[in-house]
Amino acid sequence: MAVETELYDVLGLSPEASDGDIKKAYRKKLISHIAQNPNDPQAAQKFQEMAAAYEILSDPNTREIYDSHGMGGLAGPGGGGPGMDPAEAFAEFFSGGNTFFDFGSGAGPGVPRRQKGEDTVIPYDVTLEDLYNGKSVKMNMEKEILCGTCKGSGARGNAKPKQCATCEGKGFSFVQTQISSSRFGVTRAKCSDCDGAGEKLREKDRCKKCKGEKTVKEKTRQEIFVEKGMNDRQRIVLAGAGDQEPGIPAGDVIFVLKAATHDSFERSGNDLLTRVTITLSEALLGFSRILITHLDGRGIHVSSPPGKVIKVGQTIVLRGEGMPVYKGQDQRGNLYIVINIEMPDEQWLRSVDRKAVEQLLPPKKAEMDPPPAIIDEAPYEESDIVEVRGSSFPASSNFFDEGFSSQFGEGNEDDWEDDDDPYGNPMGAEPECRPQ
Ligand SMILES: [Zn+2]
Ligand SMILES: [Zn+2]
Repeated sequence: MAVETELYDVLGLSPEASDGDIKKAYRKKLISHIAQNPNDPQAAQKFQEMAAAYEILSDPNTREIYDSHGMGGLAGPGGGGPGMDPAEAFAEFFSGGNTFFDFGSGAGPGVPRRQKGEDTVIPYDVTLEDLYNGKSVKMNMEKEILCGTCKGSGARGNAKPKQCATCEGKGFSFVQTQISSSRFGVTRAKCSDCDGAGEKLREKDRCKKCKGEKTVKEKTRQEIFVEKGMNDRQRIVLAGAGDQEPGIPAGDVIFVLKAATHDSFERSGNDLLTRVTITLSEALLGFSRILITHLDGRGIHVSSPPGKVIKVGQTIVLRGEGMPVYKGQDQRGNLYIVINIEMPDEQWLRSVDRKAVEQLLPPKKAEMDPPPAIIDEAPYEESDIVEVRGSSFPASSNFFDEGFSSQFGEGNEDDWEDDDDPYGNPMGAEPECRPQ
């Protein structure tokens, strides 16, 4: 003897119906129901309920459980307990998480209520100078705040929302989904009429100011601090400064720094790299001059060690002249100056006594002795004298990590693309600024 009959009622059956009766009744009901109510949303919901009832009663196992324990028995662990309202149990059963059926995945069910409002993520372009010197930025923004007139209820005066007619206050309806050619599953979908609330305000009961939306737009002025040593893609979080929503704390406004490539400096962590071209006589005889203008506008004066010949590709390390370390007091990384040596040009060569220059310079190389048995002359033209180390590094790449080998030949900028998690935080730290 069945303890509940709701599912049988839905299909217009008695609990004594045979398996064949259930199948026949379901088909008959469906056909007449669809024929009578095409395009009626409430009829569509009824249809889902019939499908759900059929799903349970057509399976001997679940039918037996339903017959002996009602919907409470089918709700599964954590589901409807004893004494639960049948309608509620019915809803619970289809809300996902039950252990009897795979109803497939659907929207609606199992989606947890958000604990916090949505975050607003804003990309913010910065230069390497900004990250070196730090800066504060004031900007105008617009955000949603709770309507002051209705205090976020959306209602006019003391008007109360009425039960949603579409979902009869449940906030959801059943949606049938096809799992395979012969199997249908039923999932719960949020009611679009009341947005899942189960109740809604009548037109005339809505707050005049926010039109029942509960929030209104407000212009605000935000100030953010780009701190010295911050990184590309670092996030600056203004906690609670995001859009307000009734009943939950406001989301955050998150600025994500986007560092532009610099014309003269490349950055790797706290280190900087730049390239400086010196003349041949400076390479041989030394120099003492302002080599670079730094990111804060300072001239950096460098003297080469007396008596030291600088060779092509050599790098001078200026310790403590790199990027400020983020939150590192006065700590700084290093500045690497890659020296390029400019050879004199043909005009210079024409203007000097070549014999005298040859006397001054180290001797030319002697021919191979003994020479190989076969010697071929390999011709080339002036246009065959090329530069193959032409490509540069983007500011965000680690110029020490990958080795210089891939810089040889046709340079490919793509090789230097960072494949770090684009949402990650390179510093592993997140400054929190509370809005005033
Ligand atoms: Zn309002
Ligand atoms: Zn509704």
